[in-house]
Amino acid sequence: MKIVFRFAGVIALSSALCVAQTVTEAGSMGPPACPVAGGGKASAGRSTRPTAEQIKATAEAGAADPSVLMAAEPVPNFGAERFRLADYAQCVGGGGCYWSDLDAQTRRAEAMLDRVIATKKVGEKLAVVLDIDETSLTNYCEMGREDYGYLPGVYEKWLGSPESGMPIEGTLRLFNKARAAGLEVFFITGRADALRKDTERNLGLAGFKGWKGLALRVGAQQHMKTAEYKSEERQKIVNAGYRIVLNMGDQWSDLNGTARGEMSVKLPNPFYYLP
Ligand SMILES: [Mg+2]
Repeated sequence: MKIVFRFAGVIALSSALCVAQTVTEAGSMGPPACPVAGGGKASAGRSTRPTAEQIKATAEAGAADPSVLMAAEPVPNFGAERFRLADYAQCVGGGGCYWSDLDAQTRRAEAMLDRVIATKKVGEKLAVVLDIDETSLTNYCEMGREDYGYLPGVYEKWLGSPESGMPIEGTLRLFNKARAAGLEVFFITGRADALRKDTERNLGLAGFKGWKGLALRVGAQQHMKTAEYKSEERQKIVNAGYRIVLNMGDQWSDLNGTARGEMSVKLPNPFYYLP
């Protein structure tokens, strides 16, 4: 990954490498169980994480005290924001649930794909393009272990490990739907080509079988803007005679540019931003 902006947060690690989604106390979809392997420790668990209301009340009480000299604080407090990110990622508190939002969006994409499949003509070469990180595979466990801070060396090691073969379930459903209907699926990722073998293995471990293409950055592509690199790779698919009927990614740079998908699906990603 190149420039990454992350918020910090916390996760609770469970025992085994397991990709099953958990269910929250409210009965909705929750985060996947995480493997033990990997370092780092959570900075604050749920029991010690202040709520947004508590943080606001503390600030208001301080401001109401005439003996306190207040400071200008024009930027949201990073530590407070990371607590909210952790809440959202773990589906606790009242700020929503990343996993439910993610799954809802992939279900909308599946519905779009259903309409394409229903009108597919015999012999048509239709393609689906998928990004990998936070689109097909989730790095939630490692991001949490790094307290959402992004440690390049540690993170790269995770990407190359079998433990990172963790699917985003909704995308895997969409993938299987596309394959069952005879559409071809191409992955285009911003990862460097040095990760090709590990990425191929991890896609398989996650359940993505029978894909047509996998593009990773090679040579000069490593210095290209993401949207330009991905446009170049999509153009190769178009040049091979395919209609890209759906392109799905968690960053706008996955979707913008040329040779765009006939439909583009933006997935939520509260963890980082890749220009
Ligand atoms: Mg991504």
